[in-house]
Amino acid sequence: MPQEPNNTQILLRCAVPIPVRGYLDYLPAEGIDALPLLGSRVLVPLGSRQLVGIVAEILGSTAINPEKLKYAKVYLDETALISPDVLELLNWTADYYQHPPGETLILGLSPRERRGEPPASTREDGFNLTLRGEGLADTALSRAPRQQALIAALRHGPKTRTQLRLAGFKSENLRALISRALIEPVAVDDNKAWASKSPLNANDEQRQAIAAITTSLNTFGCHLLEGVTGSGKTEVYLQTIAAALALQKQTLVIIPEIGLTPQLVQRFEERFDAPIVTLHSGLGNAERDRNWQAARTGQAAIVIGTRSAVFAPLLTPGLIIVDEEHDISLSQQDGLRYSARDVAVKRAQLSDCPIVLGSATPSLESMANASNGRYHWHRLTQRAAGAHPPSKRLVDIRGLALRAGLSPQLEDEMVEVLSRGEQVLLFLNRRGFAPSLLCHDCGWTAECQNCDSRQTLHKKPPRVQCHHCGQKNPLPKRCPHCNGHRLVASGVGTEQTEQALRKRFPSVPVHRVDSDSMSGRHAMATFAQTVENANACIMLGTQLLAKGHHFPKVTCVGVLDADSLLMSPDFRGEERLAQLLTQVGGRAGRAQRPGEVLIQTRHPEHPIIKAVLEQPWRTLSAQLLSSREAQGLPPKGALAALRCDSADQDAGSAFLTAIMNAYEATTTDPSIRLVGPLSAPMARRAGLYRSHIVIAGTQRSKVHASVKNLVALASEHRLPKGLRWFVDIDPSEPL
Ligand code: ADP
Ligand code: ZN
Ligand code: ZN
Repeated sequence: MPQEPNNTQILLRCAVPIPVRGYLDYLPAEGIDALPLLGSRVLVPLGSRQLVGIVAEILGSTAINPEKLKYAKVYLDETALISPDVLELLNWTADYYQHPPGETLILGLSPRERRGEPPASTREDGFNLTLRGEGLADTALSRAPRQQALIAALRHGPKTRTQLRLAGFKSENLRALISRALIEPVAVDDNKAWASKSPLNANDEQRQAIAAITTSLNTFGCHLLEGVTGSGKTEVYLQTIAAALALQKQTLVIIPEIGLTPQLVQRFEERFDAPIVTLHSGLGNAERDRNWQAARTGQAAIVIGTRSAVFAPLLTPGLIIVDEEHDISLSQQDGLRYSARDVAVKRAQLSDCPIVLGSATPSLESMANASNGRYHWHRLTQRAAGAHPPSKRLVDIRGLALRAGLSPQLEDEMVEVLSRGEQVLLFLNRRGFAPSLLCHDCGWTAECQNCDSRQTLHKKPPRVQCHHCGQKNPLPKRCPHCNGHRLVASGVGTEQTEQALRKRFPSVPVHRVDSDSMSGRHAMATFAQTVENANACIMLGTQLLAKGHHFPKVTCVGVLDADSLLMSPDFRGEERLAQLLTQVGGRAGRAQRPGEVLIQTRHPEHPIIKAVLEQPWRTLSAQLLSSREAQGLPPKGALAALRCDSADQDAGSAFLTAIMNAYEATTTDPSIRLVGPLSAPMARRAGLYRSHIVIAGTQRSKVHASVKNLVALASEHRLPKGLRWFVDIDPSEPL
């Protein structure tokens, strides 16, 4: 087909969502003169399919013979859906984490945009008074106070469904009024002007941090906000956001868990008169699409989301905040394995705005960056609002008779606290009734058929279940090994402790908080609300409860089994243990009343457990850092892993050995060490054998270059059936 010579020169380099480690080149669509913009979508052919690609680059020439190339079919957008800074961020992410660009760039689009549909409208389902509703007397409906309140709320104009939900109205209230033709559905734009209400009077430490951040809102800078729990980090966020708002700039807030959104959103809504949107997996697709677009158009002043929100579009990025920056939930452990914190720092750099990393127990990586001056370091050393730090003590449980995990000391403390009308928070990081089911006669334990792991015993409903792959089995009546009938629960999980607590404290409400009891989008919010309005009560939970929640009436915190955290195979195990103990402890006495933390352990002499009691995070983390440095582990130097999952037991290590040999035949860099193949700490999971090689070096760039070589070698390798490999840079999973 004859073409203008200079037209055949132009190529669209596209990221197409397929697992290929590269971009695909296409000729511009036939019959269209204008070229698509970078960051816009094009429909491209691939085999017999048509896929949505993202234009990542426009090339003037190519080494490939243009006759072999196909034409892009259709340009889907007149504007770029992905802005230049986010496009660069996504390209950087694909390169840094060595992940297929097509599967990475797609993260810059909302669910419907990925399907090739236009961006969502930001108009939302809402409700307005009908003429009849407007004419209704204020005193009407006095028998239905919620309906009356809903009418009153709508007297100032229409409200969105979300706004009404957040104000506590239920769909049945809406339905009742619709059926009486008092209100009607309308589409509403949340087009509020941006305004902030007056802040708290910041203390000196807060003021210094706020000043440092707000005086540099137009330039990149990384601020580590290290503040003990309850020190008012959130107030620092609020006041810096207010400064960004005043400049008409948006703020992106990244948090580790959706469970934290309701409390945070509520505090933000109390402070700001500005549209706030959330982005997390708990939202339906339609809401996610709409919020994504509200962020892109600049309608949303504040965007609060979990890790993938780090790629959300922003019209006027002014500030990025990562809360609980040490939290492992900020790292994605499958597909694109990335740290949302690290990507957020890169984003701030590309968008030329400041970033605040906040935590009571910052990661050793961030502590190192703060001590070597790369980050600005702000410390909040006192609890705000005059609250005192909690007092902590160890309870040596060796030889003690525990009742469902509770020592007599802890029970005594609980009795006292509860009798004062205060609240108790107990931490037990094991859900289910008991961590294993054991035969008293022969020692058999219920094990998962798919994983190297025991099955957990659950009573509600009765079953044994693997927490790694989800596989469930009915409770055996007899031992499958010796046919004995003395099957016993071994160890203690949250279900069992809950049961015991209800018996021991029959008049006190007990709330269990784990992933079994907290399913549903609003479970966590409802729980937090209930507890806030209650007096004496007991909360018992796993990690879910240890995160940044604010429970003002808790004055006693019990850690039932600190030792379960000691046996970690991970080199980050000690850091995590220390963070968790500090964080859980931080839930105590956050308001006026002093709090007490009791840590039950069989290892009262363990250096980390002792240190948590005696030392602030700064001292403790410095010790952990120097021991990491001595071992040459991150943040000293860099690590990466080439991981492999395989249905066949030997195929994985054979594959990794072949790649290692090929690598060593071509490369000699004495500063890089390859170690492996090693079995993962859990060698089999969900039916797959898991192995890896570790790439270690003192210089990040060199580790990166080696990984690139390995990836190139692995890509050329013919893979046996049932084998998959992937790259893990700065791995957060144990090695
Ligand atoms: P953190 O986020 O560090 O855990 P919060 O921001 O939740 O701490 O603050 C703990 C409590 O202290 C909150 O109730 C908050 O309203 C209050 N607070 C924070 N800063 C101040 C201040 N400057 N003056 C009075 N109260 C404050
Ligand atoms: Zn048996
Ligand atoms: Zn399993």
